[in-house]
Amino acid sequence: MKPRIRIGNGWDSHEFKRGIPLKIGGVTLPHPKGLGGHSDGDVLLHAITDALLGAIAAPDIGSLFSPSDARWRGADSAVFLAEALKRVNSAGYDVGNLDSTVILAAPKIGPHTPAIRTRVAKLLRIPEDCVGIKAKTPEGMGTDNAAIAHATVVLKLKPSKKPRSKVQPAKRKT
Ligand code: MG
Repeated sequence: MKPRIRIGNGWDSHEFKRGIPLKIGGVTLPHPKGLGGHSDGDVLLHAITDALLGAIAAPDIGSLFSPSDARWRGADSAVFLAEALKRVNSAGYDVGNLDSTVILAAPKIGPHTPAIRTRVAKLLRIPEDCVGIKAKTPEGMGTDNAAIAHATVVLKLKPSKKPRSKVQPAKRKT
């Protein structure tokens, strides 16, 4: 029997590079530097994608979307998350809730949290009150030129469809 609940965790980091857009949680934030990477470098969506895949013990984001594959160059990371969610649903699960933390020195994420939450909730197809987005600064870690994201998801087993009763209804007496 499948477990009723599964948990997944994901982690990612990307380095800041000048002159590219900064995307976090599917939202483009105003900043002179963006996160480098083969795709759009969306560190939060990558962590969430790995959390989803990990929860169903599927291969990780790097195995499914190889950085050496030209198809994913500059790709919208929402595509990766959508594929992970498809696999979660095919495995018989729905997302219960997500909690996440983004760690970066700048820009301040706080003012953008509502927009990120709205976007991530939409991508995961869950209510906004099931999406936690927290931000921290990397004090004393010496990682000011990188962004880090942690994500934890809980999956719930989809309700099973009731099998049709094999008992035939009694014939009405005429
Ligand atoms: Mg990544």
